[in-house]
Amino acid sequence: MAAGHATVAEEEYLESLFWLFEAGLPMTAANLSRAMQLSAPTVHEMLRRLERDGYVVRNHERTIAFTDSGREHAERIVGRHRMIERFLTDVVGVPWDDVHEEAEHLEHAMTPRFEAYVRATVGDAATCPHGHPIRVGERIDGVPLADCAPGARVTILRLENEAEDLLHYLKNAGIEPGLEGEIASNQDGLVSVRAGGSTATVTASVAETVSVLADPSPPPRTALPEQLVLGRERYGR
Ligand SMILES: [Zn+2]
Ligand SMILES: [Zn+2]
Repeated sequence: MAAGHATVAEEEYLESLFWLFEAGLPMTAANLSRAMQLSAPTVHEMLRRLERDGYVVRNHERTIAFTDSGREHAERIVGRHRMIERFLTDVVGVPWDDVHEEAEHLEHAMTPRFEAYVRATVGDAATCPHGHPIRVGERIDGVPLADCAPGARVTILRLENEAEDLLHYLKNAGIEPGLEGEIASNQDGLVSVRAGGSTATVTASVAETVSVLADPSPPPRTALPEQLVLGRERYGR
């Protein structure tokens, strides 16, 4: 099959691979199967197809890299996903903690004409409702909320992991992109942010998945932590 006609399944894999790539996590089959919650054999089979179709290559250490075509496809798919999320939240009124899953379904069913309408409606919005840049090159570097010291001023930049249960948890806690506040405490596995009249508290493992701008800022990490790829059972205390 000629590159240029990725199947829906291939697009989903390219999207997840790009997420690992952007987050600075190793692009391995193991991380991919954790991120997509699929079995190793399923993931290996699809990686063989992506390789055959010219989207990725694998090296001797079994890490995965995009080809130029794969990278181009992934950026287009990811940008479109974020644009649809923005549209669904701003225009249709889907709550931001529900919108990721809805966009996942919708994005594979859109005609190019409808996509153009959506793009025109969203205009020059910079990010999806979770803070990820719609023009994928324009990602602002942040630090994990988990690293911030009490007293630091923080602005929530981005919710790195868009797993729906995690987004519900963050919304219930009162954490959302754009929120500005101050670290009230960071100890015993809990991080609290005071903003306005209220305090939002999340577990330290969830705080690993929230990127912020901080003043004073902790030193940047070279890569986001492995526990970024987590599910419901991982972020409770
Ligand atoms: Zn999403
Ligand atoms: Zn998003």
